[in-house]
Amino acid sequence: SKRLSVRSLTHSYGAQDAIRDVSFDIEAGEIVALLGPSGCGKSTVLRAVAGLIQPKAGRIELGDEDLAGVSARSRGIGMVFQNYALFPHLTVAENVAYPLACQKVPRAERRARVEEMLSLVRLEGFANRLPRELSGGQQQRVAVARAIAGRPSLLLLDEPFGALDRALRFDLQVELLHLQRTLGITTLIVTHDQEEAQSLASRLVLMNKGQVEQIDTPMAVYDRP
Ligand code: ADP
Ligand code: ADP
Repeated sequence: SKRLSVRSLTHSYGAQDAIRDVSFDIEAGEIVALLGPSGCGKSTVLRAVAGLIQPKAGRIELGDEDLAGVSARSRGIGMVFQNYALFPHLTVAENVAYPLACQKVPRAERRARVEEMLSLVRLEGFANRLPRELSGGQQQRVAVARAIAGRPSLLLLDEPFGALDRALRFDLQVELLHLQRTLGITTLIVTHDQEEAQSLASRLVLMNKGQVEQIDTPMAVYDRP
């Protein structure tokens, strides 16, 4: 688990800046939520941190490492997106093992790690099922297991439970908190769900029109008279 530092990040897709001068930090092992209306630049920040786009200006550091020039693959970041499709033709275990196979983790260790991850997301016994045999919530838990299987130093979640109904979303939030306490992975979660942000994050980064407007605890943001 490492500290993430985002400094003066600016990016534009066309003439106008999609994000401008965005700065925030996430301490090692902390969960921070990025909040704001649709189109305010949340996903752009996430994509830049993930290495999927090259920001026009600014600096991103993970631990002591400057990520400029580090490929997305080499950043050691786990990701879960809203409709993050599992590989439909691979079993649950194979899906979770996939990043480990890419990292050339030896087979015996892979097997042990897959079992550990499935137990962490309470899907023991589902190893040999196919994604289509699972509920939406279970599939999303497999996606989380896959994202953390490679022991990432940073976890990026983009509206991870947005497609699920309220009760299921709550279950998964509780589970994510439990995972977070167990593994202590530095986590950035993008959401437009205020309740989700409040229950998961220790600090909120509020964005509007491409810029950071406020960074504070949920208490300070929502409970101030
Ligand atoms: P959010 O995640 O908060 O909804 P985004 O980061 O997706 O916001 O978008 C920020 C701004 O950048 C918006 O004005 C959006 O229209 C624009 N934008 C996002 N992605 C692209 C893209 N691939 N090409 C052009 N403009 C984009
Ligand atoms: P292979 O024979 O190439 O290992 P498998 O289909 O047996 O292919 O498994 C693919 C991956 O999923 C492997 O990394 C394996 O360790 C893991 N795996 C398969 N089944 C299980 C299981 N029941 N429990 C845990 N891990 C499993």
